Order: sequence, then C-alpha cells, then structure tokens
Amino acid sequence: MERKVRVRFAPSPTGPLHIGGVRTALYNYLFARRHGGDMILRIEDTDSQRFVPGAEAYINEALAWLGIGIDEGVKEGGAYGPYKQSERRDIYREHVKMLLDNGKAYIAFDTPEELEAARAAQPNFQYDASTRGNMRNSLTMPADEVKRLIDNGEKYVVRFKIEPGRDVVVNDLIRGKVTINSSVLDDKVLYKSADDLPTYHLANIVDDHLMEVSHVIRGEEWLPSAPLHVLLYEAFGWADTMPQFVHLPLLLKPDGKGKLSKRDGDRLGFPVFPLEWHDPKSGEISSGYRERGYLPEAVVNFLALLGWNPGDDTEIMSMQELIDRFSFDHCSRAGAKFDFEKGKWFNHKYLQELPDAELAELFKPVMKAHGVNPDDFSDDYIIRAVAMVKSRINFVEDLWEHARFFFVAPEEYEAKSVKKRWSEDTPAILRELMARLKALPSLEPKGAEEDIIGWIQERGYHMGNVMNAFRVAVVGECKGPHMFDIVELMGFDAVNDRVEAAIERIKA
Ligand code: GLU
Repeated sequence: MERKVRVRFAPSPTGPLHIGGVRTALYNYLFARRHGGDMILRIEDTDSQRFVPGAEAYINEALAWLGIGIDEGVKEGGAYGPYKQSERRDIYREHVKMLLDNGKAYIAFDTPEELEAARAAQPNFQYDASTRGNMRNSLTMPADEVKRLIDNGEKYVVRFKIEPGRDVVVNDLIRGKVTINSSVLDDKVLYKSADDLPTYHLANIVDDHLMEVSHVIRGEEWLPSAPLHVLLYEAFGWADTMPQFVHLPLLLKPDGKGKLSKRDGDRLGFPVFPLEWHDPKSGEISSGYRERGYLPEAVVNFLALLGWNPGDDTEIMSMQELIDRFSFDHCSRAGAKFDFEKGKWFNHKYLQELPDAELAELFKPVMKAHGVNPDDFSDDYIIRAVAMVKSRINFVEDLWEHARFFFVAPEEYEAKSVKKRWSEDTPAILRELMARLKALPSLEPKGAEEDIIGWIQERGYHMGNVMNAFRVAVVGECKGPHMFDIVELMGFDAVNDRVEAAIERIKA
C-alpha cells in the first residue's frame, strides 16, 4: 500500500535559520505539495544548553515570509502533537524504558572525569562493545547497585547498545544504498537524567515514527547519523515503517571550496539568513535577504535550484511550477555552489515582473529613509518614475540611485559633463528650448522630441551639447531614462525651475 506522504522540517531553535536550512524546508514543502502530503514543522529543542530565545519565532516568520506553508506544527496544531519536543518528555521517557526493557539500551553512570580518563588511557577510545565491559554501567554492575544509585539521585545516561559487526544499510533516494559497519558506531547517549530529556537521536526517531513521517528529507550533514537511526528503528521493532531517507547536497562556498558558513556571508557581503537576525546575547546583527530587498519569490526560486533542476534549463519558476516539477530524480549528490550573483539575477528578474504599482509601494520606505516624503507626490508620479528606471535595478533599494532626481532637484552637476557640454551660450539656448517646450500643445514624448530635434537642426545647434546640457540641468548628470519621458512626467514648471536653477548655479 502506498503510504501517505508526510514530511517534517525539524529545526533546532539554536539561532537564526541558516539559508541551507531554508532550502531543506523548501524541498520538504515542495515534495509534500507535489504528492498531496502533509508538511510538519517540529521544533527540536531538547538541547537546553543551546536554546536561543527568539529562534523559534524567527523560524516561523522566515517560513511565512517565503510562503513555505506548514500543515501541522506548534502554531498550526494537528493530530500528532505536541510538536515541540520539550513538551513530549513523557513520550520519550516511555520509549527509553521500552529499549531498556528489551535489552537494546543500558544505563551508564560514568562521570565526565571517568570518560576523560578512559580517553586519555586509550587515544581512539569509543564507548562501544569493545569497551563497555570496563565501564560503570548496568551491564557491568549488579542490578541492586544500579537501583541504589538511581534512587540516590546519581546522574546517569541511557546508551544505545550497538551490536558490532553488522552491515547497516541506509537507503537514500538521492545517494542509493549507503552501507556502514556497525562496529564503527559508538553506543550513543539517548537520554540524560540530568535534564530528563532525550538526545536528538532518540527524540527524532520516536517522533518520526509517531508522527507517521514517510520521508526524512534533510541536509547531508545528517547522513552520518542515519545508520544509527536505522538501528534505532529496528530496536523499536519499527523497521517496516521506517521512513525513506533523502539527504540533500551541501551548500558550498561560492568558489566551491568547503561548506557555506555564516562567515562567508560576512566576508563576501551577502546574507546567509532569510531575515535579519539580532543576536540576543552579543547584540550582533546578521543581514537577511528580506531586509536586503529581496523578494521572497526570488529567494525561493534561487534556493530551489541549489541542488535540484527541473530536467531542462528552465530557471524562472513560481512556487506552483516548482511544486509541479519537483522530484528527487533531478537532485544532485554533489554539493551546490552558492552563486550569490545568480541570486541577484533572480531578484532582478522578479522585480521586472512585479506590477509597477507594487514596486512603487516597496519604494516608498526607501524614499522615506532618504528623507523624501512619498505623500508629497502622487502615486501615479511615483509609479511612472519607478517604471522608467526599473530595468536597471537588482534591488528595490537601487531605485533610489536611479530615480532620486524625480524627487529631489540636483544641487550639484557632474563636473566633467558641465565642462564638456556647457558653454557661454548654453543659458540662452536652454531658455529658448524651454520657450519652445512651453509653446507645445502637449509634452507627449514622441511629438516633443520631434519638435525639439527639428528646432535644434534648424538653428544649427550642436545636438549632443544641447541635449546633454539640458539633461545635466534636470538630472544632474549625463545618465538616466529618455529625456522626453522625464520631461513629460515632471511637467513643464518643474523642468523649467531646474533649468533656471542650473543656469544660476553653473554660472557661479
Ligand atoms: N534538529 C535537527 C536539525 O537541527 C534535525 C535533523 C533532521 O532533520 O533529522 O537540523
């Protein structure tokens, strides 16, 4: 019988969600939606030492911003809750007992000092079948002694009793069969009495089983844990319903040399987090895609292609198209280079697709940040200004550089253009030009241009000098959109004021 697809994204709230974690969440989501399955968000907070306040809220906000929908989770609820591991202690305790009762696990009292001593005595020491017989645990101690220590409140851990010499096979949808000999594995700690919490390994397996997870889709860094997980499913007697493993390729540094890290972002100037993160302890701020002006659709599209392709060279895909085409058949095993320039390219493309009115709305906070009140201009004006320059931008922020002159008159004029284009006769010619424009029945760009060009020729003026001097006066420099589009949008009076101001200032 085909199993219902149920996947989970299972972050630990130990800090901001890294962009690699976002990609894992995205692939889980795409796969779930592709197969009409369920997407679970499970908070794996059993490591109380590493808990960071605000991290869970950050995860929720980041996923919501990107449009990665969750069907079951702490906020969403669901039939398999609680979805936060720290609220599932009873369940874990019961499962630890199951393993102890059937001899698959044992209690160990070794103190950190004792473990340290064992390591010092034997350089490659590992707590396993070859060494457990010499340690202080329930396999080497009489039962009444074990009971006495526990009753006395002595701290202990529960360890998984790994049988040596077995080939453990991990079936992975991307990597195929990965076989490892159980002798290399150590007797992993599954539970600690000190905080009455399980470790990641136990909690993860118990929850995946109880939540009826069908596919475990996670980063490649978890592949080394997978053999242990396979053995745990067997120890619980759940081998028949073990989820299908899928270990996603690593995200690599832009040059392909090693794993992408938080420091690469700082070093090379791009965010490695979806949202800006304010570290509650150090106060350090890490930049985020959202605050840098990325559209969530662009980030999703960019991330989707880091390790997967649709089977052809289609690049621009909406979330729905990604869902329709997603499959692990086209996931690579090799790590995916984090090509940040490509990320910018996606953002550029998505900004071009955005309706101008939406782009104008996104631009308003940027205007404010530069001291311009958007309310001083009509929406129509802002929309048309933005539309004229948008082909030049990668980020909403870039609109300022290209459209600022629509909102703020130049106070300085590009020196080299003034030198090249401005002469003694320029003021008179520009005034003549303005008179000509004023006399036109309309400033419709095509007609205005024809008229002005005709007039320049008729008068024998130098086309480049006149038009560039005009541009310098209005824009401040020799670049920008088509001059007659600018004139039409700004209107005669505003343009005339700028020409007069330029004549005044450049003279001085
Ligand atoms: N809590 C683990 C993490 O932080 C989950 C790994 C897994 O998906 O099994 O990534």
